[in-house]
Amino acid sequence: MEKQGNIRIASENMMPIIKKWLYSEKDIFLREIVANAQDAITKHKKLSDLGETAAEEHYKVTVTTDAKAGTLTVEDNGIGMTEEEVEKYITQIAFSGAADFVDKYEKAGGDGIIGHFGLGFYSAYMVSESIEIFTKSYRADAKGVHWASDGNSTYTIGDCDREARGTKIVMHIAADEKEFLKSARIRELLHKYCSFMPYEIYLDPTGKDDKPVNTTHPLYLKQPKECTDEEYKTFYRETFSDFNEPLFWIHLNMEYPFRLKGILYFPKVKKQVELERGKVKLYCNQVYIADNIKEVIPEFLMLLNGVIDCPDIPLNVSRSFLQNDRQVQKIAAHITKKVADKLIELYKNDKPRYESCWGDLANFVKFGCLKDEAFYKRVEDIIIYKNLAGELRPVSSFYGEAVSEEDAKNGKEPQAVYYVSDENKQAQYIKMFKDAGLDAIYCDTYIDPHFLSFLEYKNHARVRFLRIDADVDGALKEDGAEDADLKGVFEKVLEGKHVSVRTEKLKDANVPAIVNVSEFARRLSEMHTFYGMGESPADITLVVNTANGAVQVLKDAPEEARSKAAMQVYYLALMNYRPLKPEELSEFVSVNALLLENYLKK
Ligand code: ADP
Repeated sequence: MEKQGNIRIASENMMPIIKKWLYSEKDIFLREIVANAQDAITKHKKLSDLGETAAEEHYKVTVTTDAKAGTLTVEDNGIGMTEEEVEKYITQIAFSGAADFVDKYEKAGGDGIIGHFGLGFYSAYMVSESIEIFTKSYRADAKGVHWASDGNSTYTIGDCDREARGTKIVMHIAADEKEFLKSARIRELLHKYCSFMPYEIYLDPTGKDDKPVNTTHPLYLKQPKECTDEEYKTFYRETFSDFNEPLFWIHLNMEYPFRLKGILYFPKVKKQVELERGKVKLYCNQVYIADNIKEVIPEFLMLLNGVIDCPDIPLNVSRSFLQNDRQVQKIAAHITKKVADKLIELYKNDKPRYESCWGDLANFVKFGCLKDEAFYKRVEDIIIYKNLAGELRPVSSFYGEAVSEEDAKNGKEPQAVYYVSDENKQAQYIKMFKDAGLDAIYCDTYIDPHFLSFLEYKNHARVRFLRIDADVDGALKEDGAEDADLKGVFEKVLEGKHVSVRTEKLKDANVPAIVNVSEFARRLSEMHTFYGMGESPADITLVVNTANGAVQVLKDAPEEARSKAAMQVYYLALMNYRPLKPEELSEFVSVNALLLENYLKK
């Protein structure tokens, strides 16, 4: 006999609110309904394991689309419900649960309950005009139960002929939600939300060669030592549809003090200049929650691809709560530690591999250091740079002894480490450094300028970084007094060009002059450009080499020739520092032509 009933809470007002908030994510209803079906199976399996009911041979969830009838059906062979249970769990709990959700959601200021968990059965009303439930409990004397409601304030409940144990949820899809009647669309959603659910899910089975749409034992649940490389790669391909092989991976597997399982993959970097955002999918007991939840997964790890299953994350809370939750912070810290450990292990046990992967890893590691102090502390000695000899060495191995505060006050500076930011433009300086037996490191990722400042800040007593053209190092020059006359000649010629002049006797006699830019001035000017504050010309210093033959002759040449030659020396040095501007180039060409003419006349 059919009974009618009133749903006690005022549900009429709920749906418009839920719909509005969850508009873009209403497809989560499928996750909720299929997850309930899976839960019902888990419960039955537990009872049968305890010997309280007969075993089931093939647990499964079947999802069926029927465009003609306008229904989407999810059926399980789980525990089922008695009439009392339907009253209690569906009419009361599911409806009041939804009311509770709305309440929490409102309190959270609409910033979301993570993964919109907790809406449950009721969420199916986001896409359905009405819903019917056909169910039969596992209990020996159970009868089939039929329940129906349009999700507003009334429902009917009564007996029905149902032979099979379990529950069938029939959603009568609303006229404007017809996409959920398409098998392909449902497959896509099952793939997104239900890929790793523990019992087989069949979509529109034909009875012949049907294959489940999910993987009931995803690789991450296995013990790491039982997994082969091939399995890791296959899992990566299937989960991320990325056909590039990952560089390597980290299998997380812990039970205590919280449960955490998952695999994080380091992808190959496609373009050196940009960090591609990866995808870290968060699961809770094999149910997909959401991608890239920054409260749980440290931001820099979002450059990786991976799956993380953590049943201990409270999901029916707001994001701001999650952010301040100690447990969640511990989880994030643990993940960071594991990533660092893996990198260190690779560095120690397989340096050639580490070095060959470094090109792909460098940006990630550096970005991680900038974002996370604890991560930096762990990996600081495995951040490697190539030096002029082509060896990859930890950057910390270039640092000097710490300068005491006392010594610093007396003007002692920490070890200078020179770096090359552009191998082609700085070729002249590189050659001079090599000839003088000096070293420098190559910094060629776009994050490096920022990262070196960071390292300098963290290790200010032990290192300062100078671009290779920043200042003439002691080792590049012989001791010798300044040549004031010569300096005067150049100063006069370069008046108005913002160039200071110094004379030095460089060890390399081939070079007439070089340009130096103070590290500080250059960084300031780069910052200006970076923040769009316009170009501020970094003042440069022309270092004139008194050891050079041309410079020596120039000094005693007649006035006119001397100034032309000085200009030429300046441009030659400048060209090694940066490309000439058009007006500089035309001046350079005309001076050059003049010098050539005079040279040939002789
Ligand atoms: P939650 O799953 O968060 O408890 P729901 O609104 O999704 O909330 O479901 C309410 C209750 O209804 C469940 O706790 C469960 O007891 C019952 N239920 C829902 N779907 C099924 C099902 N397929 N089989 C058995 N019981 C179910």
